[in-house]
Amino acid sequence: RTPAHRSNQSLVDLDRQHLIHPVTSFRGHEAHGARVLASGDGMWLTDIEGKKVLDAFAGLWCVNVGYGQESIVEVAMEQMRRLPYATGYFHFGSEPAILLADKLASLAPEGLDHVYFTLGGSDAVDSAIRYITHYFNAIGKPEKKQFIALEWGYHGSSSNGAGLTALANFHRGFDLPRPWQHHIASPYPYRHPEGHDDAAVIASTVAAIEAKVAELGADKVAAFCCEPIQGSGGVIVPPRGWLKAIRETCDRLGILMLVDEVITGFGRTGPMFACDDEGVSPDFLTLAKGLTAGYAPMGAVLMADHVYQSIADSAPAALPVGHGFTYSGHPVSAAVGLEVIRLYENGLLENGKKTGKRFDHHLDRIRAHPLVGDTRGRGLLGAIELVSNKETKAGFAPELDIAGRLSQLTWENDVIVRCFANAVIGFAPALCCSENEMDLIFERVERSLDQLL
Ligand code: PLP
Repeated sequence: RTPAHRSNQSLVDLDRQHLIHPVTSFRGHEAHGARVLASGDGMWLTDIEGKKVLDAFAGLWCVNVGYGQESIVEVAMEQMRRLPYATGYFHFGSEPAILLADKLASLAPEGLDHVYFTLGGSDAVDSAIRYITHYFNAIGKPEKKQFIALEWGYHGSSSNGAGLTALANFHRGFDLPRPWQHHIASPYPYRHPEGHDDAAVIASTVAAIEAKVAELGADKVAAFCCEPIQGSGGVIVPPRGWLKAIRETCDRLGILMLVDEVITGFGRTGPMFACDDEGVSPDFLTLAKGLTAGYAPMGAVLMADHVYQSIADSAPAALPVGHGFTYSGHPVSAAVGLEVIRLYENGLLENGKKTGKRFDHHLDRIRAHPLVGDTRGRGLLGAIELVSNKETKAGFAPELDIAGRLSQLTWENDVIVRCFANAVIGFAPALCCSENEMDLIFERVERSLDQLL
């Protein structure tokens, strides 16, 4: 049963029978199957039927360098040939993992000197939760175990991270959130009563953290966790200055700050990290996606030196800190990560900033469309929010299935965007996107919107 002997239809049937897809209705998948992708080049994907589509979502906001980057393939092959695997356990290591940790520590906001590698974003968040728990035990404050996060936040799918996530689909049926996981209102300017006033939006998050900490007890709260821009909740962009205000609030209240840059890292919003925009250095930073641009699985938790030193000092020197994965610091993924970062630093970040201006231009322009209530973005991360009434900002009845119809229409118009259930269209094109390709993305999305009317 090699692919050459299999018809496309039988492949789709096998998929329906055996493959459980992430965040997908089991029955829906049995009924409709999947769009099976076959190859990619730059901004373009081709499916098994030969249909060519423009990917305006970089896979799943991860293929930030675009498809078909030969130099990445070369370093992965070379590393596989030389040393496909090296454990990080028992005082072993490998050159690519060490060099990548050093590179990340040098690129990251100040003080984040220590790197633990994971396989993706979910286990990066989960590892951060474990280290935070360990830290408060280490410093003799074992009662500090409550976590606060934002409504509309997404922090992955691990058993603990999915509870910090505040999207109903990730809680329903999974007994989440856990009793120590709490959520406060999102800094969502378009849906905020004083959304036009940046200072008011910022002040409301600060006040919400203060109120939640007062309710739970300052001696009970471990950390506040947020994305600098909320991705999977519908690309919610807080005002500039928000992240810095949160950093100051966490310091004042004596709680750690975990910033989840799984989407926003590696030039997605312009600078290498969204934290850089505001000069913020969190206690924990989680990364994945753009780290290896989807060419190999990898994530990372960066830990502030003061946390690291406290954990290091707390345990008897001979005892391990019992957290680890077989594939932590996988040499092939690490070699890929080093090459991907080289590409960012050799033109891609700059190209992303340039195309980001064209993106802003189109977001501004499309706001005039009768269905568009709001547009928002930073760098090459953005969204269009559709409404049934621009005055009242009313959404759509669920039975209209706007997201499902748009996903179909955009596919028919040969462009991939992310259609969220709350009638938000998300964009995250690769940093290699040209201005012409950006124009084409909007031409195709606008045609899809017109067909939806
Ligand atoms: N954190 C954020 C902010 C994310 O957007 C995601 C994935 O979309 C994750 C964590 C989980 O990452 P992964 O899907 O690699 O496990």
